[in-house]
Amino acid sequence: MSTRPSLSASLSTPWPVTAHWGEEGLEIGGIPVTSLADSHGTPLLVIDEEHLRRRSGDFREAFPQVMYAVKALTSRRLLQLVACEGLQVLAASGGELDASLRAGIAPTHIALHGNNKTDAELRHAIRAGIALLICDHLEEIERANAIAERLGVRQDVLLRVIPEVVAGGHRFITTGDSDSKFGLSMGSGQARVAVERVVASRGLRFRGLHAHIGSQILSPEPYLTTIDTLAAFAGHLERYVGVSSDVFDLGGGFGITYVDEDPVDVHLLAGDLLDRLSSACRRRGIGVPCLIVEPGRAIVGNAGVTLYRVGAVKQDGHGARIVAVDGGMSDNVRPMLYGARYAVAPAAPARRSESIPVKVVGKHCESGDILADGVEVPASLGSGDVLVVAATGAYCYSMASTYNRTPRPAVVAVRQRRAEVWLRRETYDDLDRLEPHDEREEEEARVSLRR
Ligand SMILES: *Cc1c(COP(=O)(O)O)cnc(C)c1O
Repeated sequence: MSTRPSLSASLSTPWPVTAHWGEEGLEIGGIPVTSLADSHGTPLLVIDEEHLRRRSGDFREAFPQVMYAVKALTSRRLLQLVACEGLQVLAASGGELDASLRAGIAPTHIALHGNNKTDAELRHAIRAGIALLICDHLEEIERANAIAERLGVRQDVLLRVIPEVVAGGHRFITTGDSDSKFGLSMGSGQARVAVERVVASRGLRFRGLHAHIGSQILSPEPYLTTIDTLAAFAGHLERYVGVSSDVFDLGGGFGITYVDEDPVDVHLLAGDLLDRLSSACRRRGIGVPCLIVEPGRAIVGNAGVTLYRVGAVKQDGHGARIVAVDGGMSDNVRPMLYGARYAVAPAAPARRSESIPVKVVGKHCESGDILADGVEVPASLGSGDVLVVAATGAYCYSMASTYNRTPRPAVVAVRQRRAEVWLRRETYDDLDRLEPHDEREEEEARVSLRR
């Protein structure tokens, strides 16, 4: 477990913990990022390994059990590193489950959630022997039970319930409201029926309740309200169904600093939540369950920065300056999807030049392909310079596309002046790999096209 100093004190900056501006400009992990751009190319996702380890360690120390939400960012090295720091992992799909198993994560340290798991995904998970299956709806319970029975096993499950708490940074990342597509409603009696079916089943074992209320949540209030709601429901289950909940899983959603947000310190937050857990359970006369959290963004978000190379610089029709970089919505769709804001900075040492507001745009064929608007950069910033966007560790690479047939960036981790490639840059050949490859047919096609 981590004995490193907590990151709490440095959290209201979007930059990773080892970032500092020296004589050679921005350095991360002791390496000037311009040299990373030169040797690995751009766009480049740079991960500050020290930051990642400390954030993992902070959560691990603060909460009884932590599962890293794989969807935020995944690579084999990354999963091994968070596992090494004592985190378990949460997969949202068969692909994420597969990546976790391939990384060597013990199945007993993996949970699977998702609102629409296929039979193949359920079978994969149950056969592998994962720790917790997070069931989303009644019909899934029947299918999971049938699969477990056929395999002759008993699968531990949590039931995802809808706490009807509204929280999170954007409509699309709010998941705990009553019209959510995720989970079982408690008020309608659906969740109770689900618990009864799990209890009556031979292939499933009821372990507790799961709720995930949204993402980029900056205050403890929605979590506290969720704990109250879960405790009330668990009390109801003890009294009327005669079953106790060993686990309350509060999901993820812990907010980070993108520009000037001020997230709650992890240790303070955990203290508040654990206090509320014991008082709420005492009030309902039930035993105190184990508290699980599932951070994704809060582990990896601020650990990453993206390096771009500036290309075209021009004025729009109103005289505002536009700076175009060699990536955009293919490697970071969040500004487009959620109106997300980002902090940017030039990688080079500050030259004596006034700052001016610019619009940073990508290279894709969409007018909405804007990474940051109204951000201040030195007026001298021009073609060939490296521009850095902070806090891109979470939900950028993992949401990346190959739109405009753009290969995905490389991911490089830095630590103590050493850089390690975690994911190599995609190539045109990688993209071509998906085409059917039958040489004779291809030659025939080429010949007929030439005619
Ligand atoms: C997305 C998700 C998480 C992680 O959310 P973050 O905002 O990245 O912390 C955790 N649990 C569930 C169920 C999720 O869907």
